[in-house]
Amino acid sequence: MMRQYELVERVKRYNPHADEALLNRAYVYAMKAHGTQTRASGDPYMSHPLEVAAILTDLKLDEATIVAAVLHDTIEDTDATKEEIATLFGPQISELVDGLTKIKKLDLVSKKAAQAENLRKLLLAIADDVRVLLVKLADRLHNMRTLHYVPPEKRTRIAEETLDIYAPLAGRMGMQDMREELEDLAFRHFMPEAHATITARLDELGRKAGPVIEEIERELESKLAAFGLKADVSGRLKRPYSVWKKMERKSVSFEQLSDIIGFRIIVATVADCYAVLGIVHTTWPTVPGRFKDYISTPKQNDYRSLHTTVVGPGRQRVELQIRTEDMDNIAEFGIAAHALYKDGRANDRSALSRESRAYNWLRRTIETLAEGDSPEEFLEHTKLELFHDQVFCFTPKGRLIALPRGATPIDFAYAVHTDVGNTAVGCKVNGRMVPLLSELQNGDEVEIVRSPGQSPPAAWESIAITGKARAAIRRATRTAVRNQYAGLGRRIIERAFERAGKLFSEDKLKAAVPRLARTSLDDVLASVGRGEIFSGDVVKAVYPDFKEGQAAGSAPDPKAGGWFGMKKGGGLVFRVPDGKQEAQLPSIPIRGLNGDLPVHFAPDGGAVPGDRIVGILTPGKGITIYPIQSPALMAFDDQPERWLDVRWDIEEDHRQRFPAQINVTAINEPGTLAQIAAVIGENDGNIDSITVIGRSPDFRDLKIDLEVWDLKHLNAIISQLRTKTIVSQVERVNG
Ligand code: MN
Repeated sequence: MMRQYELVERVKRYNPHADEALLNRAYVYAMKAHGTQTRASGDPYMSHPLEVAAILTDLKLDEATIVAAVLHDTIEDTDATKEEIATLFGPQISELVDGLTKIKKLDLVSKKAAQAENLRKLLLAIADDVRVLLVKLADRLHNMRTLHYVPPEKRTRIAEETLDIYAPLAGRMGMQDMREELEDLAFRHFMPEAHATITARLDELGRKAGPVIEEIERELESKLAAFGLKADVSGRLKRPYSVWKKMERKSVSFEQLSDIIGFRIIVATVADCYAVLGIVHTTWPTVPGRFKDYISTPKQNDYRSLHTTVVGPGRQRVELQIRTEDMDNIAEFGIAAHALYKDGRANDRSALSRESRAYNWLRRTIETLAEGDSPEEFLEHTKLELFHDQVFCFTPKGRLIALPRGATPIDFAYAVHTDVGNTAVGCKVNGRMVPLLSELQNGDEVEIVRSPGQSPPAAWESIAITGKARAAIRRATRTAVRNQYAGLGRRIIERAFERAGKLFSEDKLKAAVPRLARTSLDDVLASVGRGEIFSGDVVKAVYPDFKEGQAAGSAPDPKAGGWFGMKKGGGLVFRVPDGKQEAQLPSIPIRGLNGDLPVHFAPDGGAVPGDRIVGILTPGKGITIYPIQSPALMAFDDQPERWLDVRWDIEEDHRQRFPAQINVTAINEPGTLAQIAAVIGENDGNIDSITVIGRSPDFRDLKIDLEVWDLKHLNAIISQLRTKTIVSQVERVNG
């Protein structure tokens, strides 16, 4: 394991001004935090963060990145906290470590994620500092180097994830060395047989090609020297994974692959690059279609180089990359190259900070990273400010849904499908039931609980933030309201026919539609439901000879009961069947409920306006309203289909009181009760009952049922009671 002084030395080699004390502090802190933890290899755990830091010192990264690497697993795997790290190492480093912790948590979700491209986007959305990604890649590289210690059943998944996500990410960040090593390590574990075959072939070929490579190197160098060009030429065999990919892509066998040797020619200036190209092209025949000029047109990740393939000495096809040293640095280290320290001085100390000239480049690169390959995706995402106004969430099957920040599960449901939105009744986020109003966070796995035949409450329209969801909710509520009236109308009409002693049939009613000046059967039903047409008139329209005196609608059936209907402007009211009388039952002003079910409050300490509320559906009984903090709700945790999202619907000018319950512990002396009652009365509370539920020599415990306007009112009464010297404790009873 790397020693403390070795870490410091590694950093000081390229950055002599490095804060030695800071590095030492990080080393000691991580060492203490990880304590006796060990790796799968049996090594002390601490060896891992140190190796990760070492990889990053090879990239000559700034000390904040190195310290973050040393600390990267502390928050997730030890008792360390973000706050503690902020105190000891400053906010910048604590943010970096926190970013890494978030990504690590994401691994749990990503196991299921089907789309690698989207996961890369998610990574980018979460890592708002590019250094977080650099540490993450180094972390993955060390984990891949030690993957053979991990149990075989886990290896395949980790290797696949590396091929799908981390290697391409390194590639997009321009870090070719990192990408190739990740690919080859992953290839070995993901497809052991293919890897073994190709490696064996490459080894064999390497033995034969060795002299050929040297010969070509010599020939190239001397040719160029003859024109006065100083060039560094090096040839190598392609890496196993890139050979494999080429075989797959072109569906050819190993023998058919002609270009498995590549040469790199490094020269001093851009002009030299083109001079070399001219010499190469006039000396050997070129392979058509293989010339690419990435110097005049750099790749989006800033990669610059000339590419060409020629038929070289011994009729061997030779692939050439011609570039300057600067270009070569960027080709190998990508983003990290911009933070390179040179000649013991910072090349650009703030290269990774917002102000720097390199920042714009980084920004552009990150945008490129996140772009998909399709132009639609490109357009969709270039509109965004580096995704920070977006959240990315998963369906249980791993589909990724992008939503604007602030989106709720309702928006999520509609983004998945309009039907999913329309039938949504509840929601689980990361396996836990949450209200449909909650704000979604990056990486959340969202499962929408549906109930067929449900339609969305009108109130959702004001909760949803996406246009798609709002429009769908408007459409669905219009239909639902209309259906509700039509259903109501049908029951009224059926009963009217029954009382008139006439047979009801839909066909007969259909024939009578024009006589009622309506356009369709549904229209007639809805009109009756809304009270625009009297049921007696409908009977008359179907049976014109029907006598007035027998008209229906005059004698309500006492057993008929009632139902909740929509009030103009939303909200529910209790109605009796003839639609004329408002019920004596108090209406519960709650939005979010459609249908004709009775609504009541939880028996103990019900909700008052201002409380966040939830409705629990009991088939055959109706809906019970609980305040969200009610412990009684735990009993329904495993029955998400019964949870309904509801909201208060209070009209300013139509105030009513609501029952609430408080427990008061007061001194046991004469006059206590009167004083308490006085406080409640002075504060405009109505007392329903006071029960003594406990008594000791000094105190008595009281349960008080009272009626209040809302939560603010209730809290005001509670705090007034608490100011009295005779009162020792006041608590609200929550269902
Ligand atoms: Mn790690």
